[in-house]
Amino acid sequence: MLGKLSRNLWARRCGTLGLRSCPSVSTWSPLATAFNTKPHTRLNITKNDTGLFGISALTNPEGFYLLKENAIHRTDELIEEATREKRSRKMVEIFDELSDTLCKVADLAEFVRLSHPHVKFLHAAEDACISISGIVEKLNTDRELYRVLKAVVDSGDAFPTNPVDDHVAELFLFDFEQSGIHLEEKLRRRVVHLNECILQLGQRFMAGAITPRVVDKEVLPENIRHFFTRKGDKIEVASLFAESTNAKAREAAFRLFLYPDQRQDQLLTDILAARHELATICGFPTYAHRALKSSTVEKPDTVREFLEILTEGLRPRAEEDFRQMAQMKRQENQMSTELAAWDTPYYTAKLKKELLQVNAKEFAPYFSLGACMEGLNTVTTSLYGIHLENTEMQPGEAWNTDIYKLAVVHESEGTLGYIYCDFFERHGKPNQDCHFTIQGGKRLPDGTYQPPIVVIMLNLQQPRWSGPTLLTPSMVDNLFHEMGHAMHSMLARTEYQHVTGTRCSTDFAEIPSVLMEYFAADPRVLATFARHYQTHEPMPQDMLNRLCASKFLFTASETQLQVFYSALDQAYHGDPAEQGTSTTDTLRQLQERYYGLPYVNATAWQLRFSHLIGYGAKYYSYLVSRAVASSIWHTFFAKDPLSRAQGERYRREFLSFGGGVPSGKLVGDFLQCGVTPQILAKNLIEEVDANSETIRHLTERK
Ligand SMILES: [Zn+2]
Repeated sequence: MLGKLSRNLWARRCGTLGLRSCPSVSTWSPLATAFNTKPHTRLNITKNDTGLFGISALTNPEGFYLLKENAIHRTDELIEEATREKRSRKMVEIFDELSDTLCKVADLAEFVRLSHPHVKFLHAAEDACISISGIVEKLNTDRELYRVLKAVVDSGDAFPTNPVDDHVAELFLFDFEQSGIHLEEKLRRRVVHLNECILQLGQRFMAGAITPRVVDKEVLPENIRHFFTRKGDKIEVASLFAESTNAKAREAAFRLFLYPDQRQDQLLTDILAARHELATICGFPTYAHRALKSSTVEKPDTVREFLEILTEGLRPRAEEDFRQMAQMKRQENQMSTELAAWDTPYYTAKLKKELLQVNAKEFAPYFSLGACMEGLNTVTTSLYGIHLENTEMQPGEAWNTDIYKLAVVHESEGTLGYIYCDFFERHGKPNQDCHFTIQGGKRLPDGTYQPPIVVIMLNLQQPRWSGPTLLTPSMVDNLFHEMGHAMHSMLARTEYQHVTGTRCSTDFAEIPSVLMEYFAADPRVLATFARHYQTHEPMPQDMLNRLCASKFLFTASETQLQVFYSALDQAYHGDPAEQGTSTTDTLRQLQERYYGLPYVNATAWQLRFSHLIGYGAKYYSYLVSRAVASSIWHTFFAKDPLSRAQGERYRREFLSFGGGVPSGKLVGDFLQCGVTPQILAKNLIEEVDANSETIRHLTERK
């Protein structure tokens, strides 16, 4: 009910127009220098350590016990205040403080549990997570607390409220009802049971989705066995080998890795059934209806229409992509068969290489980590008058010796918040780029603002003594993407932490991060910071143009693939009566309808698609976010990506609200048009066309 953790796992793609460059500077700033140098080792030799994240209790792992006890105590006080006959403040304020009290410990503990290199901290954080879940479970069954909130939502508060108060109170009520508190006891117990089942089955499905397939070596023709890992008489297939140059190896990996697994199929079938039952008990026609409530698009029907229109528009364009790829395949081998699903990543990569004319690795010297951070600083300074300040940490403040802390400082408003940068790979750290909220921003009773604190986690190589960490172009995209989330957290100025920054619907939360990828794909922006780490030479203009254009390759077929995945996710979480005889049958039907390459018999790709668990019915979010981000980019930034006037406008009219305003309304107001399936689809189709135009120009010039 009260804990929300943001986890961002999207695959990334992006595109842009415009090929003008800005002059670049020739010396590194202090920020760039800091990030291009091996981080300082800060030894904790003093007794006066400040504690993790500056929290004095966390100088040692036992501090989690104290934090948890304090949270329990404060929770009891707040429950008493909420249910008291006479209150002295709005109900939603009490609920937000209740949520803040628990989230501050839960979010922190969740982060530490996943990332702290020391096992004692890890265990203490795990204990705190379990305790807080226990409290949340108890709150979820507190009918008196539910009753007082429901009374306020239904009949108004005793204090005057504004639309944001009302909206946030409704969100709290909805979260409450997710646990079935409004139902009769037998049904409520069923809801709790189903939630528990879904969680456990989901974990097993996710583990199964990445389990390698092991087969007798005789299954494979001798000439391709060496591509795979040998284990005695067995061969292990752990991935799709999607970019292998050998077509037979790609095909074998595809057929073996995706061979239907009965146990996985049963897990998926059970999860989908449990989700459907859960949704119907809670009064929704399907699980998708439940998942999309409070989203930007609001209803599954809107998603369906969006996907239908998009499919129509994409079909001829994707066919053209596939025609080109098929031609490349024939050029490689006259005897080759038709283009198949296992070929597309390989030919995309191949054409990209041809277009770039150099190995992607040759771009990396121009993207030292320091240069990229300087680029981000240029963007935030230009758009918002905000600079990123590398800040010295106190001993004990960080969980490892290689963490940076950025203060986000506005030229007149002062420090807005803090971003901890956990950028380098280390043993045991999650191998995922993501953004964690440690403390959400909110207005405090004394009128001051609780500063947002977040962590950006990447998995870059440590800098060596011989030189700084160098990023490939796709790592630059990821850095900009995660920074988009972080700046959303920093720039939201919401009254309530429950809706601050990224604490909003998934199809809204990805807009600011996807938008940042447009900045990372614009030659004018890249020209401000892409400089060789040794010679300080700017990246040659032609190289810049090629790099940016390479991001636009085959966007029609790639988008079509995303449409197919989204449609599948919607169908699985939709009306069971409309589904096929099995999860594979549904997949086959939808692939025929939404994707340009045929289904491969005896494969079950859905059993490897773990996003069905994490994003249940929300996988479409990526497409909607991209459609909106594309529109924002073209309307406000394409002409001048570093315009202060447009940046200010974007900050005030879009980012500042978090989830405090229904996101469909927020997007509609900002873009001054309705968020209709037609408009969203049109944005993406126009982008696909603009992208192919860019590629055509570039290849013609060759
Ligand atoms: Zn994201």
